[in-house]
Amino acid sequence: MSRDADREITEGPADNFTGTVSIQPQYSGDDNAERVSDVRFEAGARTAWHTHPAGQRLIVTDGTGWVQEWGKNRITVHEGDVVWFAPGVKHWHGATVGSAMAHLAVTYAVDGATADWMEHVNNDQYLGRKQGDQA
Ligand code: MN
Repeated sequence: MSRDADREITEGPADNFTGTVSIQPQYSGDDNAERVSDVRFEAGARTAWHTHPAGQRLIVTDGTGWVQEWGKNRITVHEGDVVWFAPGVKHWHGATVGSAMAHLAVTYAVDGATADWMEHVNNDQYLGRKQGDQA
């Protein structure tokens, strides 16, 4: 077994996140392909735009957040919601302005990578003033 206290919590790097985000790996599959992390976003925090080579499933465990796929409208998610992003679909996820949000993130490594990172989510995109494909 793996004790919670033995799994280091790290801060989401500024290149890939806006605001305060903590990440705690939960486990990797035996072949290291499946990876599960507990990701916690303070209010206002979010990922940059990114894709996952084998897709990603989010299980919202606390709070209220926003998720958005490129070219689509932002969607509000709550504790208990499960979200799937298909392989290669550009998207972001994070907290809302007024609430923190935590999710478990399930990804699968392809050639050792679980994500391809892109530009930050600007404030107009984050606040839902523009669709993802409108700068
Ligand atoms: Mn993602």
